[in-house]
Amino acid sequence: MQTTLEPQTSFEVTNKGFYGHFGGAFIPEMLYPNVEELRQNYLAIIAEPSFQAEFQNLLTDYVGRPTPLFLAKRLSAQVGATIYLKREDLCHTGAHKINNTIGQILVAQRLGKKRIVAETGAGQHGVATATVCALMGLECIIYMGSVDIERQKPNVDRMRMLGAEVRPARSGSQTLKDATNEAMRHWINNPVDTHYIIGSVVGPHPYPDMVARFQAVISLETRKQLLEKEGRENPDYVVACVGGGSNAAGAFYHYLNEPSVRLIAAEAAGHGVESGHSAATTALGKPGVLHGSRTILMQTEDGQVTEPYSISAGLDYPGIGPLHAHLFDSGRGEFYSITDDDALKAGFNLSKQEGIIPALETAHALAALNYMSLTESDVVVVCLSGRGDKDLSTYTKYL
Ligand SMILES: *Cc1c(COP(=O)(O)O)cnc(C)c1O
Repeated sequence: MQTTLEPQTSFEVTNKGFYGHFGGAFIPEMLYPNVEELRQNYLAIIAEPSFQAEFQNLLTDYVGRPTPLFLAKRLSAQVGATIYLKREDLCHTGAHKINNTIGQILVAQRLGKKRIVAETGAGQHGVATATVCALMGLECIIYMGSVDIERQKPNVDRMRMLGAEVRPARSGSQTLKDATNEAMRHWINNPVDTHYIIGSVVGPHPYPDMVARFQAVISLETRKQLLEKEGRENPDYVVACVGGGSNAAGAFYHYLNEPSVRLIAAEAAGHGVESGHSAATTALGKPGVLHGSRTILMQTEDGQVTEPYSISAGLDYPGIGPLHAHLFDSGRGEFYSITDDDALKAGFNLSKQEGIIPALETAHALAALNYMSLTESDVVVVCLSGRGDKDLSTYTKYL
């Protein structure tokens, strides 16, 4: 891809919502008032001392932060480098997603919203959203494709138990993109009292920046913990899987302007990049507009979004967030395509080597270690984005 503008030295979003050539807010006019209200207020709200106090307190006492930075000794010996695992799997609800939903529900409260709407594919973001709505006593409506409701029953049950209403999206392929359309429609029709919680660093500005700021706690803690353990804040590499890219954005955030830290993103290649069953966005995609932002996405010659595939539901997305598109385009980030098989092997391996069963999404990040040319002196932080309990039925097929 050709970079025609000045080289970027900063990876911060511009006030129009751009990261290099990517980002922005490409939205229907009907959505403009909602997004604009958020854009005008989010930075001031996040900066309020009372917001920060409540956010930090909930991250500590409800989510269980700081999450440990664990030195994985047996994995390190195997790989031939020093490998630390940032244990987001130990967060309440089992993954990093709750960092963002806590932040957004506090923003919604301060905007005077009474109802939360969200969409979910695998149900992980739906559960994290239903959890914070229960915590705050706000009404919660989760849109989910009818097909996904069938496939992800345990998460649907969790959402219902937490008091959320799960509404089936019956149009199109009855999966995530259809649920997204329904959630958007709901928001357009209820602009005054509803906040839409997006679950990754995707969507129109300011969502990618807002979500990245809430997930940035991951790298903030990593710096401090690594300083204590290794006498340096900066590792040689940070590795994370990328679906939309929120755990990666959080793990990278405080290292974006540290060029000595190499940023490694693992994308899901499914059955293989060239197989026609893949979600390896940077390997296969081209620039285009998806869900309100200009980014890199998988599409046909005439611009139709390609149906993605991955064994892991959380990486089964045809695009990536605009920050990641910019990291790829500028060369600041290095992207690896990891197949289902690679990920399964890495998931089984971590379970046996360290006694930690990772989410299938996370297993893609672990598999990337095998493709990086690491040396003994390298210090690597892997973002262990979530735990694998939800994936047991998939794993056990391959036992
Ligand atoms: C949802 C999910 C992901 C993918 O989402 P990102 O926004 O790319 O982080 C990764 N890991 C786990 C455990 C997830 O639940």
